[in-house]
Amino acid sequence: MSETESKHDRDQCWVVKTGSALLTDNGGGLRTEAIAAWVGQMAELRSRGFRFIVVSSGAIAEGRARLGWGMLPVSLHEQQAAAAVGQMGLVQAYESAFKEYEIRTAQILLTHDDIADRRRYLNARSTLRTLLALDVVPIINENDSVATDEIRFGDNDSLAGLVANLAEANRLVILTDQDGLYDRDPRQARNARLIRTGRAGDPALLDYAGPGGALGRGGMLTKLKAAETAAKSGTDTVICSGLEPQVLLKIAQDEQVGTLLSVQRSPLAARKQWLAGHKRPDGSLVLDDGACGVLAGQGKSLLAVGVVAVRGEFSRGEIVSCVARDGREVARGLVNYSAGEARKIQGQPSNKIEQLLGYVNEAELIHRDNMVVLDN
Ligand code: GLU
Repeated sequence: MSETESKHDRDQCWVVKTGSALLTDNGGGLRTEAIAAWVGQMAELRSRGFRFIVVSSGAIAEGRARLGWGMLPVSLHEQQAAAAVGQMGLVQAYESAFKEYEIRTAQILLTHDDIADRRRYLNARSTLRTLLALDVVPIINENDSVATDEIRFGDNDSLAGLVANLAEANRLVILTDQDGLYDRDPRQARNARLIRTGRAGDPALLDYAGPGGALGRGGMLTKLKAAETAAKSGTDTVICSGLEPQVLLKIAQDEQVGTLLSVQRSPLAARKQWLAGHKRPDGSLVLDDGACGVLAGQGKSLLAVGVVAVRGEFSRGEIVSCVARDGREVARGLVNYSAGEARKIQGQPSNKIEQLLGYVNEAELIHRDNMVVLDN
């Protein structure tokens, strides 16, 4: 273990978001040397036990360059076509940079609906976790080519915040072409002051944020919003310059870099509030006394064997209440099976699920990571 490595490195999962302005030279295509530099740092940190998810912009900018459009104004559909062209180059660039270190990568393209719909949310979450368990680095972008206005995130900052929720990441690092959040625009005011630390979601910070640049869609405002979103699952955010040498290594060594927006509550408390904050669910699972005790006392997952009745209708991925026989709500969580499926497997051991349903989604009815036990 090196001097700078600490024990908690082993559990660190970071989402690193890179912006279009950093990745591309004004209309000139991808800066592969910048990608190689970040990838080199991620490879170094991975050897200390960190895991990474990359949320990368740059598809539209790279597509524009490949199509010879430069900075010319183009229609929405042309931008979507450019994204399809540029995404090829983007994933190629990451893939070859990570290959230098024999690290495998995977491409995930998401739309807003994939995250808003609870069932798809669970699927995206499972895929992401499986990729991490397989030691693969997911490279994520918005699926710009198919996203319509209603289903688009619009900017990758928001997407990165939501990915931090999906992965329950420890940290979101937003790499940008600015040194961090300033109290006024540093391009205009020479005495602009860099904000070093703040609370994610602090409304007072919003006054400092200006609009975005020409290539990417986000500005500081979307970065602050992303930090607020990330904080909901207990993720701290650092907004900093991707041009700063060894920037990721510095952050990992707790050097003061850019602006750190931290979560005020513990990650667990934040997640608990996030799940508990959903309106009272329509469906519920009635648990036997044994299951109530195990959930409350030992923080374990809910298995079908502990369920005595299923009330209401719900689909996989929806939030359901777990209630005791006397109706007291003991927990709430995202359910892995629909109400119909739950009725078929209630009271049964997990190894019978396949026989009863013909397939197995997950061994648990509600995984403990997706559940909050309520204080009664
Ligand atoms: N998804 C867009 C792209 O890859 C970028 C969105 C943004 O700038 O935040 O080109």
